[in-house]
Amino acid sequence: MASSAPFPRRTFAIISHPDAGKTTLTEKLLLFGGAIHAAGEVRARGQARRARSDWMKIEQQRGISVTSSVMTFERDGITFNLLDTPGHEDFSEDTYRTLTAVDSAVMVIDAARGIEAQTRKLFEVCRLRNVPIITFVNKVDREGREVFALLDEIADALALDVCPMMWPVGMGGEFEGIYDLARDKLYLPADDATGAYEGRQETVSGLDDAKLESILTERGLGKLREEAELGQAGYAAFDETAYRAGDLTPVYFGSALKDFGVEQLIDALADFAPSPRPQPAEPREVNPDESSVSGFIFKVQANMNPQHRDRIAFMRLCAGRFRRGMKLAQIGTGKTIAVHSPLLFMARDRELADEAFPGDIIGIPNHGTLRVGDTLTEGEELRFTGLPNFAPEILRRIRLADPTKTKQLRNALNDMAEEGIMQVFHPAIGSNWIVGVVGQLQLEVLISRLQAEYKVDAGFEASPWETARWVSAGEPKLLDGFIADHRAAMAEDRDGAPVFMAKDNWELSYVQQRNPELRFAATKDRR
Ligand code: GDP
Repeated sequence: MASSAPFPRRTFAIISHPDAGKTTLTEKLLLFGGAIHAAGEVRARGQARRARSDWMKIEQQRGISVTSSVMTFERDGITFNLLDTPGHEDFSEDTYRTLTAVDSAVMVIDAARGIEAQTRKLFEVCRLRNVPIITFVNKVDREGREVFALLDEIADALALDVCPMMWPVGMGGEFEGIYDLARDKLYLPADDATGAYEGRQETVSGLDDAKLESILTERGLGKLREEAELGQAGYAAFDETAYRAGDLTPVYFGSALKDFGVEQLIDALADFAPSPRPQPAEPREVNPDESSVSGFIFKVQANMNPQHRDRIAFMRLCAGRFRRGMKLAQIGTGKTIAVHSPLLFMARDRELADEAFPGDIIGIPNHGTLRVGDTLTEGEELRFTGLPNFAPEILRRIRLADPTKTKQLRNALNDMAEEGIMQVFHPAIGSNWIVGVVGQLQLEVLISRLQAEYKVDAGFEASPWETARWVSAGEPKLLDGFIADHRAAMAEDRDGAPVFMAKDNWELSYVQQRNPELRFAATKDRR
């Protein structure tokens, strides 16, 4: 079939709470996947990128990552597409959308901290779409919680069956290695001071094998035998169907810093993680085997290269074999986009893609035509669904220091609204734009990007509103009447769609109840 890829694809993301070790693990995955050649390159790359753009100082200062990208590596005949998700909760909107473009996820948990707030939120998004999850309990080289406590917490907090695939022999000062329950292998630290995993391993016949006595301390082995046996009896056995349905998570233990468990994690992705899955769409589901190309835009990033003011739309290819130069229809707009310079994102570089396959992410440079949520096809009227949008929770009036910069401000706001990191509204009364964001940090990023990228000095003023809803009605007259009655609280989004702004949730539900014939949408339907 024309659309089948030369290599199987694994398109996945890592979800975690900040500091759990996502960056370190990403780097090690790329290192073991052969995509980079020295640890530190992911960070170095991040730094080079940061140096180019001043606003990213915020992420440096706060030690967070607000940009996300795609990293592709190949190993043992499989192409892995790792979609990076920004870690800070203020940027969850972007993160959530990225999760719609993956087929599976790796959940990284700090062995000492267990399930944290951000992990849980991201997990919930995965659950909405039944995204299968492999768990990686990181930092076993440090003091952590008891293995049982960790497994129980994952099971209880996330209401998932857990299946330990490996078992650490002690943690922190007592760490002696990791036992692979499926393969009956023991991964051991190097003898030197690093204590890193350098390929030292022993295959045994099982936990009872006497050979283990000469490798592990009596204490370590005793504990391993007792715990691992109890663990295997007490938790679910691995069941690929349950994993694929998002009901069971296999749990791996390791140390990204010391290279433990990283290759096993790649193997797990290769062995169990799904190939590109059928994608929900209207009026029909799209199957990756279809020969006709289709995909959706899940992210737009402006000014990736400040010299060019470019804008890259990230498209997840869902079906068909994409070829460079193809013309794709932007559904709902009547426009056709000729994709002459599609980009593939390798770990270190972007390169022109001559072709791409379902599961791949291609970057499409454009001048603002493509937006988050767009469906592109060879002509069929399809719309991919399930891309979450979030109602803004913080609304602020934006105030220009220099009133002659109105046009620059409008362009800048448009660009950033296109990236999907904020909404912009124009009130029916008054002339100051209102921006809506999901988190406070986005406001700071906004001000700082306005200065750095657009040379616009601006600040925020409190607005009387807290939340916004897109209003629509079956009967245009009803809508007109509502708008006339609520002019002081009405605004238009950048497409001219009417938006009602409420002072608080109480007022919102009051107005909703009084107008049962109108629809108040927390997110906007695309065109
Ligand atoms: P992120 O915020 O999730 O991307 O986390 P990072 O990868 O930046 O890691 C946060 C901190 O934890 C850094 O200081 C890492 O060096 C450290 N770290 C990451 N993985 C491990 C690990 O396996 N063991 C230990 N001891 N530290 C780790």
